[in-house]
Amino acid sequence: MATRGCVFLIGAGPGDPGLLTLRGAEALAAADAVVYDYLANPALLAHAPPEAERIYVGKKAGCHTLSQDEISALLVERALAGQQVARLKGGDPFVFGRGGEEALALVEAGVPFEVIPGVTSAVAVPAYAGIPVTQRGLASSFAVITGHEDPTKEVSAIDWSRLATGVDTLVFLMGVGNLPHIVDQLVAHGRPADTPVALVRWGTTPNQKTVSGTLANIVARVRAAGFKPPAVAVVGPVAGLRERLRWFEKLPLFGHRVLVTRTREQASTLSVRLQALGAEAVELPTIRIAPPKDWEPLDRAIASSLPYDWIVFTSVNGVRFFWQRLIHAGLDARALSGVRLAAIGPVTAAALEAYGLEADCVPREYVAEAVATGLGDVRGQRALLPRADIARPALADLLRKRGADVVEVTAYRTLRPEIKAGELRNLLTGVTVATFTSSSTVRNLAAMAQDAGLVLASILEDATIACIGPITAATARELGLKVHVVAEEYKIDGLVKALIRCFRDA
Ligand code: SAH
Repeated sequence: MATRGCVFLIGAGPGDPGLLTLRGAEALAAADAVVYDYLANPALLAHAPPEAERIYVGKKAGCHTLSQDEISALLVERALAGQQVARLKGGDPFVFGRGGEEALALVEAGVPFEVIPGVTSAVAVPAYAGIPVTQRGLASSFAVITGHEDPTKEVSAIDWSRLATGVDTLVFLMGVGNLPHIVDQLVAHGRPADTPVALVRWGTTPNQKTVSGTLANIVARVRAAGFKPPAVAVVGPVAGLRERLRWFEKLPLFGHRVLVTRTREQASTLSVRLQALGAEAVELPTIRIAPPKDWEPLDRAIASSLPYDWIVFTSVNGVRFFWQRLIHAGLDARALSGVRLAAIGPVTAAALEAYGLEADCVPREYVAEAVATGLGDVRGQRALLPRADIARPALADLLRKRGADVVEVTAYRTLRPEIKAGELRNLLTGVTVATFTSSSTVRNLAAMAQDAGLVLASILEDATIACIGPITAATARELGLKVHVVAEEYKIDGLVKALIRCFRDA
């Protein structure tokens, strides 16, 4: 029996990818195809499985990629072919999103569908500009109105006379082009000319810009600022609260689009920190962790009943794969009772702790040299280093120089993920800060760019380059990047602190 497809009409939220709903993320994760348009943040596509098809259907005023009928037809066709289709629409699908039309087309074609409401720009964009749409004593009602109506239309579908004075806060979507007409109508129908107005462009994103004024002067100010769509216009006394309530623009990394190049699994700890500081985090994994081609060397080390004085872990992945093989060999933590454990830093130590193992040595500085010193006198001692296939030889060399007998085994491989040229270009566009947390992240990104016919150093020419430590920075310089920020503590926290300092002092 053929499986029946269905369509999820998903609200993508106003721009900040953190404003997608949990239900929306679930539906994306289960999608065979994602159909998205201009106002839906492309970063949300990361929630969809890599193999899901991604179809851009555009729609920017005056430049439609597909007509509305063609979009509806596409949804029907895909669903009838048995696909689960995620239809991502900016904001909320049923607020000026033509979601209703798409739903009607689905009903007509007998295609099952669900609606997943989204955070509408009508409320969220003012909120990010410091404007509550209702406020005790100032506004007890608000209306969301299309600003797109043709001003030459003989009979307006908008009842200006009631709206102008009957609703406290007026929120206009799609109103930039028609602003003079909107203002004229409101004043002509009795709204005082000194009513506060704010226009917020690309709200909830690093490009958020606001122009404030009153009905009397907003048209001139918007013109002077060269303001273009998309913007939300808020008319009413609440627009004046912005002076005191603006919060988003004051965050230390506001306005920045920050590239995060770690593995997909590790990216989120950094992304979450950056987002909390007001930045947009753009995840572009440059490393994919994979098991070694051959488990034999690691398995042999484990099967030898671990006659080591030290096992030195230089990464969380090293810990993870070592443990996996230990369990695979039918052993557990007791096998490590006679061995001392070293971790290169607190995160690796925490990974050990998760398995009930306490590191005997965690150096203060997270570099090979400090680990070697931290182990003390290693003359005649045996050390096992379960590490990445491409690990630097520095640590093993140092330990050998100090008289240790070192066994290095590959516990995992770091591979370069594949990415389409177009997708890479999209992710890199407009990046203002690029973060690198290891030499491989820089090297792989440079190679990925090259595969896509791009030169990393030119694409990131105007971006601030931030590296986790001096070795990563040296690799970045070798590849022609100008490094602006190097963390003092070689860990994520240190990198974030260094970024805050850089932009605070700028
Ligand atoms: N369904 C969407 C609205 C679609 S109409 C929602 O619920 O938000 C498109 C209009 O939404 C734009 O012309 C603009 O007025 C507004 N809009 C959407 N995202 C915006 C953003 N990030 N900043 C400012 N305005 C936005």
